Amino acid sequence: MSKPGRNDPCYCGSGEKYKKCHMKADKAAEEENRKLEEAAKWLPQDFLRFAQEEHFAIPFARALSIYWNGHYTFENAERMSPNEASRFADWFVFDYKDEESSRIIDIYYEDSYEELSEHQQRVLTAWLTAPPASAYELIAYNGQNLALRDFFSGSEVEVYEPAGHGPVQPGDLLLARIVPVSDKLKFSAVAAYLPQDEIADLKEKMAQALAADEEEFPGTSEVDAFRRNSHLIIHHALDQAEIKGRPPVADSDPNRADELVRKASTQMRKLQQRLR
Ligand SMILES: [Zn+2]
Repeated sequence: MSKPGRNDPCYCGSGEKYKKCHMKADKAAEEENRKLEEAAKWLPQDFLRFAQEEHFAIPFARALSIYWNGHYTFENAERMSPNEASRFADWFVFDYKDEESSRIIDIYYEDSYEELSEHQQRVLTAWLTAPPASAYELIAYNGQNLALRDFFSGSEVEVYEPAGHGPVQPGDLLLARIVPVSDKLKFSAVAAYLPQDEIADLKEKMAQALAADEEEFPGTSEVDAFRRNSHLIIHHALDQAEIKGRPPVADSDPNRADELVRKASTQMRKLQQRLR
C-alpha cells in the first residue's frame, strides 16, 4: 500500500488530512515493526553465542554429526560455509533435543528471558511455538513475497524473503523454518533448496521415519515427531547431491578454494580501482 502525502486526504475516508488522522498511528506501527525486525536479527546471533557455551559442547558435537550425516563433525566444523553453519545452528537451537534434555531455545528462554528487551522477549515467545524445519514447495512469487505449500502437510503460507526467490523455481522445495516476525512470516535462517527433479522419495522416507517414531514414542504429538525427524530432509538433500555428482557440503566442493581465491581477487581489484 502506498502511503498518502501529509496533506492528502486520509485513506480511512474520514475527510481529514492524513497528518491530522492516521499518520501518527502508522508511524508508531512502523517503528514497532522495525524494533521487532531488529530483535529477530539479533536473536539468532545470541542463540549461537549461548549454544557455544561449554556445557553444550557434547550435545553440539552429537548434533553436528546427526544433522550432517557425518559430513561435518566436531573435528571439521569450522569448515562449514556461513550458510551451512547458520542452518545447522538454527536446527540445533529449534529442533534438536539431546537425550532427555530440553531444546536449546527452551533452555535459552529460561536462562535469558529476563535480560532481553521487550521486543526481543516478544519475538522469542512467538518463536517457542514455531513449527519444525520443513520442506516448502514454491507455488508462486511476487517480488519478495513467496507463496509456499508445506510439502508434507499441504498447508499454504506466504513468506517475506528480502532476497526474493533467488534460483528457486515454482515446483522446487525450499528447506527452511518459518517464524513470525512483526506482521510477517520469514525464514529463520538462509533457506536451502531442492530442485524438483531431486524430490524423489522424500515423502515416503519421511512417512516411514514418522511410523518408526510412533513405535518408539507411542502417543507422541505430530509436531514433536516431525521435529525429531526434520533433519532427514537435509539427509535426503545431501544424498541427492551425491547422486547428481555435486558436493553435498561446501567443504567437499573442489571449486570452493578457487571460489574463495576469486572472491579475494575481486575485492582486491575493486580496492585497486578505488585507489587509482
Ligand atoms: Zn484516517
